[in-house]
Amino acid sequence: MRIYLDHNSTTPVHPAVVTAVRTSLEKQFGNASSVHSFGQDAKTMVDNARTSVAELIGANPQEIVFTSGGTESDNLAIRGVAESAAPTKRLQLITSSIEHEAVLQTFKALSKRGWATTLIPVGQDGIVEPEALEAVITDDTALVSIMHANNEIGTIQPLAALADITHRHGALFHTDAVQSVGKLKIAVADLDIDLLSLSAHKFNGPKGVGALWLRRGSRLISTLTGGKQERNRRAGTENVPGIAGLGIASRLALQNTASDTEHLSTLRDKLESGVLQTVPGTIVNGDPSKRISNTTNISFDRVEAESLLIALDLEGVAVSTGSACSSGTLEPSHVLRAMGYSAHRAQNSIRFSLGSDNTSAEIDHVIEILPKLVQKLRGVSRPSSNPNQQTAAVER
Ligand code: PLP
Repeated sequence: MRIYLDHNSTTPVHPAVVTAVRTSLEKQFGNASSVHSFGQDAKTMVDNARTSVAELIGANPQEIVFTSGGTESDNLAIRGVAESAAPTKRLQLITSSIEHEAVLQTFKALSKRGWATTLIPVGQDGIVEPEALEAVITDDTALVSIMHANNEIGTIQPLAALADITHRHGALFHTDAVQSVGKLKIAVADLDIDLLSLSAHKFNGPKGVGALWLRRGSRLISTLTGGKQERNRRAGTENVPGIAGLGIASRLALQNTASDTEHLSTLRDKLESGVLQTVPGTIVNGDPSKRISNTTNISFDRVEAESLLIALDLEGVAVSTGSACSSGTLEPSHVLRAMGYSAHRAQNSIRFSLGSDNTSAEIDHVIEILPKLVQKLRGVSRPSSNPNQQTAAVER
C-alpha cells in the first residue's frame, strides 16, 4: 500500500488536466502571439484558462498574469510593486516571519538593495495579528505581503483585517495564496486585497505554471524584460500546455472545493485524533481551528522527524518534515521556530497534508502503523539533553 500524505508539497495531476495538457501539446502548438490560425488556437486556449482562473478567485480575466508558478508570482508581486513605488519614496516592505522562502528570500534580496524590510512576528498559534501590523506600518510602506494559508502548519491569516490596515496607510496588499487556492473558497473582492499568487501544482494542475492576480489599476513594473506578452506584465512566450492544465485544474477546483473541504477535514481530524490518542508525547502545532482542512503538523516527543519520515516511507507512507523546499536539510523549520517553539520541538515535527484522493482506509492504516514505528525509534533515541524542552511536546 502506498499512501501519499504530502499534498502541500505537490498534488497528483488530475486525469482531465493530463488530457488538456496533452491536447494542447499535440494540437495547439502555435505561439499564442501569432496572428495566424495556429497562433489563434493557442490564444483561445490561453484566454479560456484565464477566464477559469479568474472565476476561481472571483476576479476579472484581464487581471490575471500567467507565470511559471508560485515563486515567480511572489517575485513579480513583491519586486514589481517595490520598483514601481520606489520613485514615491515609499521604501518600506512588510511581511511575516512564517512566509514561504519565495517571499522571505525576495525580501532579503530587496533589503540588500536599499528597501527597508520588516518581518512581523507571530505567536505560538501561527497567526499574524492585525495589531502586529498596526505596530510597524507607516505611510512609507509600499507593500504588505502576508500569506493566506501557511504551507507547514496550515494556519489561515486574517487577510481582510490586514488589508484594511494596509490600505489606510496607502500601501498595496499581496497574499501568497499558493496553499489556499483549491482548499478555501476565495473571492478577492471580499478580502479587499490587491495582488494574489497561485500555483497550479498545488491543486491537481501541472508543475511550472501559476498566476498572479493584480487588481486593475495597481501599479507594477514587470520583472522580466522582453516581449509584450501578458499585457506587458510578463515577457516570454506563454507556456500554453501548462496554462491549459491550470485552466482545467481551476475549473475542477471551483466545482469541488466545498465537497473536498468536508472530506478532507473529516479525514484530517480522524488522523489527528488517532495519532494523539495512540502515540503518547504528541502535540499539534499551531492554531487547531483557524486552519485549512487538509493539514496537521504534529510534534513527536523524542523522535527525530527525519527518521520518522524515512520509517514511514519504508512503509509506503509519504509525509514531510516542513516545507518541501527545505526538506533534505536538518535545519529546524523556520516557521515553527518563528512561532517560538524550541529547536527540539521543531525538529520533531511531521506535516501530514491530505488530498481529495485519500481514503478513510488509508488513514486507518497510518494510525495502525505509527505507534509501533514511534516506539521503535524512541527505543534507539537518546533522551533530550534539556528536559525543559520536552515539556511542551508531551502535553496533548
Ligand atoms: N508559496 C507557498 C506558500 C508554497 O507552499 C510554495 C510551494 O511549496 C510556493 C510559494 C512556491 O510555489 P512553486 O512551487 O509553484 O514555485
